[in-house]
Amino acid sequence: MRSSRPVPPGHVPDSRLLASVAEFTHHRDIDALDHSLVLSLAELVKVRTVMLCKRGESVQFPVDTVVACTHGADGAFVVEAMDPSHDDESVQTIARAMETLKTVSDVTPAGLHRLVIPIKREQTAIGALTLESDEGLNGVRALVEGFARIYCNYIALLNESERDKLTGLYNRRSFDRRLQRMLKQRRQRARALADGREERRQVSGDGPQVYLAILDIDHFKRINDTYGHVYGDEVILMLAQQMRTNFRQGDVLFRFGGEEFVMLLAAQDEQTAHGALDRFRRYVAEHAYPQVGHVTVSIGYARITENDYSEIVLDRADKALYYAKQNGRNSVHGYENLSRTGELAPVALGSIDLF
Ligand code: GH3
Ligand code: MG
Ligand code: MG
Repeated sequence: MRSSRPVPPGHVPDSRLLASVAEFTHHRDIDALDHSLVLSLAELVKVRTVMLCKRGESVQFPVDTVVACTHGADGAFVVEAMDPSHDDESVQTIARAMETLKTVSDVTPAGLHRLVIPIKREQTAIGALTLESDEGLNGVRALVEGFARIYCNYIALLNESERDKLTGLYNRRSFDRRLQRMLKQRRQRARALADGREERRQVSGDGPQVYLAILDIDHFKRINDTYGHVYGDEVILMLAQQMRTNFRQGDVLFRFGGEEFVMLLAAQDEQTAHGALDRFRRYVAEHAYPQVGHVTVSIGYARITENDYSEIVLDRADKALYYAKQNGRNSVHGYENLSRTGELAPVALGSIDLF
């Protein structure tokens, strides 16, 4: 049963507490929200460090991102994002708190009081908040648990705003953040492989390269004109579901606009990426959609690395898609291959508007 009696939040005045919650929830961007959460807590509670860890997709390395707020040399707070070191004692304690969904209240090997609070959504932890202080932290446990709950609710809302309403795929808004995250995961995995901490998985398609593909339905206007928008929407919806089941779990799928989709695929090489995309193209062409019947798609793709501007790679993939549209549709073309064979002039920085 919910208690109506307010719980006194230790020594923190209500007005400061509310101001702090209002401050960290005014952000509309998840990275800014993370940053503000650790800073708000560090300003409210006397601590050496406040750390927000978030869960990644790897079972082996459950802690993916870490944002920490510490006192700098001049006494001011410093907030920074860092890569978790999985051999670290604190990361292991945090992983355990996330696994068991139980708050840990203990003393670190360096003699600091520590509180690790899992951020729970339903039966899992999406992350954990960790505080380290010279003083005991039991008095602020309820307060930090409250922050964890508000943060979790707010993250759910922000995540929803990153999804396309019709298909549930990610929307264009979330593209840059998802791309950076995917490249970062690749980087971490490559490092873990180099350290010999992760065995190379011999699964085709799962590799060190990332490819950006744009898929566009062929002659979609005709589908709308012939059968009406409701059937057109149905095709978009079914295609999104088919993308979900045909691509790998680590691949990231977006609906960019009307009947245009973008995919980020991890693949060993160009041939593997091409194979996966062409397999999907054939799958679509062979499928009969309700009322509408057969539909085809054209796909253009380009390789993307950490040093590329996403706008340029989008433009490259779009050029390859345009080539597919000009050359019979229902086909898959890669920008690098078209450039090698001289079918397309290369897209260079400076040739397109970035802003
Ligand atoms: P192609 O791509 O093969 O060149 O031909 P197309 O007919 O698909 O060309 P285009 O991209 O110009 O047209 C896309 C059409 O998709 C325009 C619009 O009527 C329709 N459309 C855009 N968004 C939606 C949507 O959300 N639902 C439905 N039903 N139709 C949409
Ligand atoms: Mg289009
Ligand atoms: Mg089209």
